[in-house]
Amino acid sequence: MARIRILRFVGRGVAVAGVALLLSGWSRDDAAGSRKPPPPVSPVPHTMPATDVLIDVGHGGIDSGTYWNGIHEKDINLAISRKLYLILRSHGVSAAMNRTGDYALSDDNRWHRASRHNRDLSQRGGLSDEIRPDIFVSIHVNWSPRRKNRGPLVIHQNEGRSALLAAFIQDGLNRQQNTRKLPMSSRKYYVLNRVRVPSVIVETAYLSDPRDRELLTSARGQTRIAMAIAEGILAYRCVAP
Ligand SMILES: [Zn+2]
Repeated sequence: MARIRILRFVGRGVAVAGVALLLSGWSRDDAAGSRKPPPPVSPVPHTMPATDVLIDVGHGGIDSGTYWNGIHEKDINLAISRKLYLILRSHGVSAAMNRTGDYALSDDNRWHRASRHNRDLSQRGGLSDEIRPDIFVSIHVNWSPRRKNRGPLVIHQNEGRSALLAAFIQDGLNRQQNTRKLPMSSRKYYVLNRVRVPSVIVETAYLSDPRDRELLTSARGQTRIAMAIAEGILAYRCVAP
């Protein structure tokens, strides 16, 4: 589904570029008084409009992520991502989501002969190549069997801009959740290794902790989380090289 939507998007871009070429050809001929037909319109290779932020909506479909008592991580990720998308757009940031409903991204991946989980992950990486955003922000929910674990954790690539983005988002979430956690670098996550732009994984809060769960499952709490993430992204964009 995501692929179809993106192809439609490309189609519109090609159409706009084609019209622009035709118009520029017409005005040149008109100014010169020539009767020559306009030059043929050649295919335009990179017509995708620029996307500032690709929101990677964790899990989906058969893959529910972590869960508690009928509450699934995939649904919380989608709810927070939708809010984040709208907040970013309201600030003039062009954002895109790689999942807008409850389905697995592996269903869109027909070229990678691998397990469903690996097809899901490679589809997330492949889409980031197609869309080529400035940054990639993956939204997740954490879980721990240890009672004392709560609060947000942002994981980044071993790269300066990714670390900077993580620091800003972690700071926004720390202030929102009254925590003092530090972001963490890791090489063990496929998307962080695979995606070629500054990327972070945002573990928004713990579904295993009662207080965090209250935040994660209420519309108000999800909005507050989305606002804190957006705040971090906006701060990053002010200083990003
Ligand atoms: Zn997850």
